[in-house]
Amino acid sequence: MSEDADETARRKMQFLFALRTKGVTDTRVLTAMEKIDRRQFTRGVFAARAYEDMPLPIACGQTISQPSVVGLMTQALKPGPRDKVLEVGTGSGYQAAILSQLARRVYTVDRHRALVATASDIFRRLDLTNITALTADGSFGLPDQAPFDRILVTAAAEDPPGPLLAQLRKGGIMVVPVGQSDTVQSLIRVTRTDEGLEYEELRSVRFVPLVEGLGREH
Ligand code: SAH
Repeated sequence: MSEDADETARRKMQFLFALRTKGVTDTRVLTAMEKIDRRQFTRGVFAARAYEDMPLPIACGQTISQPSVVGLMTQALKPGPRDKVLEVGTGSGYQAAILSQLARRVYTVDRHRALVATASDIFRRLDLTNITALTADGSFGLPDQAPFDRILVTAAAEDPPGPLLAQLRKGGIMVVPVGQSDTVQSLIRVTRTDEGLEYEELRSVRFVPLVEGLGREH
């Protein structure tokens, strides 16, 4: 192995070790995170930090989430191999790529057309054919494809958006950061049971806000 390849392998090992240390213990999630190279979803100077457990800037003033948070959210969502999943907040596409390894079909939407275009290119390059990325205001979900078995929101909402709850299948699970933007938010898991909606508070997180309408480049 060349010195560079050696160094990359070492960093990837450390990356997986950090995930385990922070509580990502689900083997399927760890396997997906080992397979999907985070570096592919970063750009420019930030690519050098792809295997560090920190959020990084991407285009349109947004961020690719911290890997341990991606792992913990994926674990909390419990996606199964037959599930149809909706992600709100495509961003870099990294989270959607992880979900694509664990679910049957992934729909991911972002309000920024440029982010959707870049992420779609990466999905194509990596041959992740079960992901569809669309430009849309995800607070309204994706009525054409509803209902979903799992919904993951990767931007903070003041409350779990009603249209998303309505698009959750019975037995379905939604994970969403809830709280005012610019403060610490709570990661909430909502399960639709026969009796109605069940809410659990999982941990504190910090996400960019869910914003109404499409991005300004339109
Ligand atoms: N999951 C991403 C990180 C998400 S950052 C990743 O793996 O890289 C949050 C994203 O939510 C941003 O890209 C932002 O544009 C998007 N967003 C914010 N409000 C939105 C809305 N109403 N509908 C769709 N996307 C939204």
